[in-house]
Amino acid sequence: MDEEIPELERAFPAIAHYLPVRHLEAIQTSGMYEGEPGSWATTCIDNKACVFVYYEGDIAKCSLEKGYLNGETTWRKPISCHLFPIRVTSQPRTMLRYETIEECDAAVERGEQEHITLPDFLKEPLIRRFGEEWYNEFIEVCNEHKRIS
Ligand code: SF4
Repeated sequence: MDEEIPELERAFPAIAHYLPVRHLEAIQTSGMYEGEPGSWATTCIDNKACVFVYYEGDIAKCSLEKGYLNGETTWRKPISCHLFPIRVTSQPRTMLRYETIEECDAAVERGEQEHITLPDFLKEPLIRRFGEEWYNEFIEVCNEHKRIS
């Protein structure tokens, strides 16, 4: 979202120390984000990892989120990342779509075992994006759907 660009720029100096040298170099060369107003995305390296990825062992993690959780910033990460695997499109009207990717299989399995639904799991980002009133209505509709299905 356009209003997230200044947030990203403000957060960067505080989280840069987590990033691999290659990612810092990529940011210096290509910038932190690309696209155009209404359609920004964080820059990727070799069309793969986002420049904000850092590694703990062989696990890729988000440096923006790490900085937020460590109290180094006040902005968690782009809302599109926070909402994943829900994707939001705004044309012709706002629509939410569940994107399935193989990398999420283990999380889906765990959610099924622990009876955690996607709306429960994404409560925080859904409220961040659409507000608490919307979220409560959404949960009511989901519960209603469960009752009749
Ligand atoms: S969560 Fe988003 S900003 Fe963070 S590393 Fe992943 S793609 Fe990049």
